[in-house]
Amino acid sequence: DVADLPGVPDWLPDHLHDDGIEELYPPQAEAVEAGVTEGENLVASIPTASGKTLIAELAMLSSVARGGKALYIVPLRALASEKQADFEEFEQYGLDIGVSTGNYESEGGWLADKDIVVATSEKVDSLVRNDAPWIEDLTCVVTDEVHLVDDGERGPTLEVTLAKLRRLNPDLQTVALSATIGNAEALATWLDAGLVDSDWRPIDLQKGVHYGQALHLEDGSQQRLSVQNNEKQTAAIVRDTLEDDGSTLVFVNSRRNAEAAAGRLANTVRPHLTDEERGQLADIAEEIRDVSDTETSDDLADAVADGAAFHHAGLSRGHRELVEDAFRDRLVKVVCATPTLAAGVNTPSRRVVVRDWRRYDGSAGGMAPLSVLEVHQMMGRAGRPGLDPYGEAVLIASSHDEVDELFERYVWADPEPVRSKLAAEPALRTHILATVASGFARSREGLLEFLAQTLYASQTDDSGQLERVVDDVLTYLQRNDFLEIEGGELDATSLGHTVSRLYLDPMSAAEIVDGLRDWERGVSDSTSASGSPADTPAEPPADSGFTTASELAEDADGSDDTNADPDDISALGLYHLVSRTPDMYQLYLRSGDREEYEMELFEREDELLGPTPSEFEEGRFEDWLSALKTARLLEDWATEVDEATITERYGVGPGDIRGKVETAQWLLGAAESLASEVDLDAARAISEARIRVEHGVREELVDLAGVRGVGRKRARRLFQAGITDRAELRDADKSVVLAALRGRRKTAENVLENAGHRDPSMDGVEPAADVSVDLD
Ligand code: ADP
Repeated sequence: DVADLPGVPDWLPDHLHDDGIEELYPPQAEAVEAGVTEGENLVASIPTASGKTLIAELAMLSSVARGGKALYIVPLRALASEKQADFEEFEQYGLDIGVSTGNYESEGGWLADKDIVVATSEKVDSLVRNDAPWIEDLTCVVTDEVHLVDDGERGPTLEVTLAKLRRLNPDLQTVALSATIGNAEALATWLDAGLVDSDWRPIDLQKGVHYGQALHLEDGSQQRLSVQNNEKQTAAIVRDTLEDDGSTLVFVNSRRNAEAAAGRLANTVRPHLTDEERGQLADIAEEIRDVSDTETSDDLADAVADGAAFHHAGLSRGHRELVEDAFRDRLVKVVCATPTLAAGVNTPSRRVVVRDWRRYDGSAGGMAPLSVLEVHQMMGRAGRPGLDPYGEAVLIASSHDEVDELFERYVWADPEPVRSKLAAEPALRTHILATVASGFARSREGLLEFLAQTLYASQTDDSGQLERVVDDVLTYLQRNDFLEIEGGELDATSLGHTVSRLYLDPMSAAEIVDGLRDWERGVSDSTSASGSPADTPAEPPADSGFTTASELAEDADGSDDTNADPDDISALGLYHLVSRTPDMYQLYLRSGDREEYEMELFEREDELLGPTPSEFEEGRFEDWLSALKTARLLEDWATEVDEATITERYGVGPGDIRGKVETAQWLLGAAESLASEVDLDAARAISEARIRVEHGVREELVDLAGVRGVGRKRARRLFQAGITDRAELRDADKSVVLAALRGRRKTAENVLENAGHRDPSMDGVEPAADVSVDLD
């Protein structure tokens, strides 16, 4: 009974009652018995949707009740806002909740007053590197989805960060929440923690495989589920679920497949909608179109109007939220999602279909099966407690033999054990520098001793392997002037400290510093020789979207601002420089791209920083071209090419543009710091390139686009109407502003207020007749 919980704040039992929680679920009760409300460490490995969040809350709230401070580590930024919303429920009892995800290189001082902080593991790592003083006040840390220590890219950060937090405060309560995994006890041993290892679920889950006209269930029974003429198996299952008034979550292996499947399944859903549902869906479809003006947006809106949707990392946040809400509200009846999102979205549904159990894996050179852990997490989304008698999770078999294979591989199989990926060189490169720079180790021995507290050390028999990689990495860091080793003492150089605080991979920092130095040498060698970047204005092929923007810019101030100053590094050169670092996730070269970007390289090689690798260095050359493609996307964005053209030209979603832009902003900011650290005179050019990419505008709009609520399109419209900067906007004629913003009063008032206009009210103002702006 929740009234009998030891150690929790007085208000909690009533609060839980109000939420319909009277009794703990069995794994939650086990956690309390293991002392989770009394400061004990705990690893909880329990199925999806079995109440892990409450275990976290019990730990954090009781720790705060004892006068402490708690940290909740999420694996994905998207989850941070979901958890923040969960925990903000406690603000009515006087608790302060803070969330910190973006902006790596700050110490987040304002978080010092918060009782509960939500952050990604990267952010926590960065806070530790920047000596955030409140980190030492933490009394409780909870990590969500801790099985992701197995992830080659992000796992090592989580592992090292936990080790650091625990070293800073040996009494820190550590609670780690995991999906069901094969070796939960290994995690418990590593963290010195009690263990709750359970496969209890609040609602039964029936797993099965569909083949032919039947659904084969794990209890040996069969349900008739017939596929009609020309219908795919997934459509048959969705239809069958709809006839029973339920909804379906379909997992597929790529974004493209998610979009295609949603488009097809819309046909299946449409006939089942009521008129009222159709009306509500039409409204949501309109909201989706309003979020952005792209093909993805259109496709999504079309599908949603018919009660179907897709959901993947290429969607913008606004789109994702609209889809999730509509699915929770039972308006959207089927969502087709990629597996990356299986962990995140809390959207239970009657049935889950795992349509694709293989996905493309570059390192395997082809299609590789998903892990049992992943498939079980997807399947765990089936069944809504209190609404469905049980959930059903269905795999799709394409042959009779495959039915048996899928039963063996996934239905009856146990999830794989989780294994540390820390011993990989890229991971250690970053973490060894940071560990030394922030004083956790001052010698090779101290470093090895620190690393002995990681999951890796607790899992390996071969400590020699770790030592070998550590020595290689130390040599690399010393050679690049990030570390000094003297008489057995390890010390970070000033450059090394900067790199660690900036949260850069040391290899990225080396690439940036080398590139900038090459440029400086090149510039002084060839004093304004003809054919220098300044003589080759950046003009990509003249097709629709781009031409409009560039003509506009020329009309606007009569000049072409690209590379106006011969001493400047071109923005493209800088975008390319940061795009070729390991911290940028580069765009893929599709078939046909290679020729295109080789041509591009040939034309614009002068603008790039540092020597182009030879075509015979296959890997490096390929990388250089992918970086060029990525840089061209950034350049397009910073020259006001519209979003729809960019998504089309590079085969990406609007969310990807955001992602690339944010990474570029961060890396260019870091490049500015590095430039001044090593006395290179490039900070102004870098800062300009950074601001342009941040707002997605040409030079002359930078000031206007910086006004909150303005953005790239509105900035261009205002500029066209003769308002060229923030000061002019502040004193502008209101009827001109209103006309430039196409008569939208609310928007105009907002914008004027943000610009500091003394009287932003649009009452009685009419749009000026002689202002005509028409960008779209
Ligand atoms: P997980 O994080 O394990 O995937 P959640 O913590 O999101 O699962 O819990 C799933 C749902 O179960 C939530 O809606 C939550 O409110 C509900 N829930 C959790 N614990 C209880 C309980 N003891 N009694 C009733 N409902 C509960």
